[in-house]
Amino acid sequence: MSAAVRYLSTRGGAPAAGLSQAIAAGLAPDGGLYVPEQLPQHDPAAFAPAGSLADTAATLLAPFFAGDPLAAELPAICAEALDFPVPLRPLTRPDAQVLELFHGPTAAFKDVGARFLAACMRRLPRADGRPLTILVATSGDTGAAVGAAFHHQPGVEVVILYPDGRVSPRQAHQLGSFGDNVQALAVAGRFDDCQRMVKAALNDAALQAGRPLSSANSISLGRLLPQMSYYAHAALGWWREHGTPLDFIVPTGNLGNALAAVWVRAMGLPVGRVMLACNANATLPEFFAGQDYAPREALATIANAMDVGAPSNFERLRWTYPDATELRRVLSARSVDDATIRATVLRHAADEGELFCPHTATALHLLDQLPPRTDGGAWAVVATAHPAKFETVLEPLLGRPVPVPPSLAAMLARPARAAPLAAEDEALRTWLRAPAERLSLSA
Ligand SMILES: *Cc1c(COP(=O)(O)O)cnc(C)c1O
Repeated sequence: MSAAVRYLSTRGGAPAAGLSQAIAAGLAPDGGLYVPEQLPQHDPAAFAPAGSLADTAATLLAPFFAGDPLAAELPAICAEALDFPVPLRPLTRPDAQVLELFHGPTAAFKDVGARFLAACMRRLPRADGRPLTILVATSGDTGAAVGAAFHHQPGVEVVILYPDGRVSPRQAHQLGSFGDNVQALAVAGRFDDCQRMVKAALNDAALQAGRPLSSANSISLGRLLPQMSYYAHAALGWWREHGTPLDFIVPTGNLGNALAAVWVRAMGLPVGRVMLACNANATLPEFFAGQDYAPREALATIANAMDVGAPSNFERLRWTYPDATELRRVLSARSVDDATIRATVLRHAADEGELFCPHTATALHLLDQLPPRTDGGAWAVVATAHPAKFETVLEPLLGRPVPVPPSLAAMLARPARAAPLAAEDEALRTWLRAPAERLSLSA
């Protein structure tokens, strides 16, 4: 067994942590993101050829868990969290595949990270017997995935904050459909307000003394690590069959999904090129085109889950490739505007009879711009959400309904309710202090 990996902050100002500690904390105490001291190296031949996604994940993640109290539980965590299909299937173009990440309970790839984080947190020892409240600010998909992952879990309450009127109607319905230990708050503000309110509550020691709080934000290692599994699984399967690496085009916002692909490649597995497909939020495309890194406020687009102007995981990318020239050599990024997203959705519907969500369409547009390959290799477009989640974008465009998958239909059939909340830090604090109000809400 390899030595235990220690986790450091990207900002270098926090003590090294073990994996359990890093997962429980989410953010490092100096405000940085946890990274392993170094990335482990893997031999592709060490992975079981007939293994499931969960088997690949258990082998891939074993060195990250070595020496941690959760190590013995890793195979069970993987089996519990990664129990839905993640198919790689051909597109019409002979040199292209699509990797579908949306077959989990809430129909977006966020299910992978949320379910794995929940499976880890269920097994972490709790210092006191009091229930833990998990706060999550969401621009749409994360909140539902976290709500579903912790729904009915004893000892855990989930409070989801979303910007009222700024998520799709189906996303809003999903967020409010859980009940029991999962509550939704419709905040009269933007996603940034929700995030700020969550941070203020987490940093409030007096509030925490009355009610222990944690978060399930996208920078948690417990969400990032499992996202590497599907890249490793798809690339190893491709490599065994074709003898070449698989190249990926990844719809990108906060950079968590694409970073997972980059790390799998850095660990010695057969991932080839990685291209980032962004919407009109061009912070990353501008950096990769040679400009200085300039984070900014996000613009609203029809690929709303990628509306990020200051991608958090950029810190982890810089840790992986400290030299900017090297970083620009190993990755590229392109920006795709809303009109092009719409045209891409329409073209693929008309030519191939296939529907893709607006996020996936950014990656498809990059594929459409690429010449046919003659090197025997292939591109895998990463499909991050089911198109039915974005019916308000797609249905007016196509002029017909988008079929809804069964798990999403079941969620939409349940009643939904959310409590309205002012976009003020104090409003969330007051809400968290008032259990009576919460009980009447869920009645
Ligand atoms: C979250 C999300 C993205 C962006 O993923 P990042 O890890 O933030 O880059 C893309 N598409 C969909 C559907 C999402 O929910």
